[in-house]
Amino acid sequence: MMRASLKPKKCRNRDCGKTFTPVRSMQAACSVPCAIALAEKQKAQKAARANREERKSLAERKAKIKTRGEWIREAQAAVNKVARLRDILAGHGCISCGSRPDARFGGAMDAGHYRSVGSAPHARFYLPNIRLQCKRCNRDLGGSVVNYRMGLVERIGIDRVEEIESMQWTAKWSIEYLQRLKKVMNKKARRLERRIEQRKEAA
Ligand SMILES: [Zn+2]
Ligand SMILES: [Zn+2]
Repeated sequence: MMRASLKPKKCRNRDCGKTFTPVRSMQAACSVPCAIALAEKQKAQKAARANREERKSLAERKAKIKTRGEWIREAQAAVNKVARLRDILAGHGCISCGSRPDARFGGAMDAGHYRSVGSAPHARFYLPNIRLQCKRCNRDLGGSVVNYRMGLVERIGIDRVEEIESMQWTAKWSIEYLQRLKKVMNKKARRLERRIEQRKEAA
């Protein structure tokens, strides 16, 4: 008995593309060489897809990693906190106007830079350059620099103020440095907070 022959179809190997009569219904290629070529092509496609996905997930992971700018911001926040707590513990008010709003943990007060971060980025983490400052002087009065200087001279003397004013170098913070700085400063801040608390309890 004759087996009903399958309908002719086009070889799926695109380099061949000729029409053939398959012997199996799932047969996609006309010949063994075409079947091999087809399998190879599918393998390459699969590898390319895997490659694309890997690149995509790498890009996603990269996006999650903090940028240097973010590390600078976080380290700055920790340094500023230490500056505020240091001045609160010492009983100081705003470096420019002397006011002392309810400065629980310095929350209502800023840490103001004498030499601004914009004009002296190398001094941005230099603690003597950062002082407790009320929000009005720091934000509304543009840093209230003239009064800041007078307050600073009173506090640390003209020599050290001039030292800060003449500080000059090109800062290049590595991410490792910024991470370490943040860690060290946060530890220091916790110590200062404890001392401030102890003082309050003793009072
Ligand atoms: Zn073929
Ligand atoms: Zn002030």
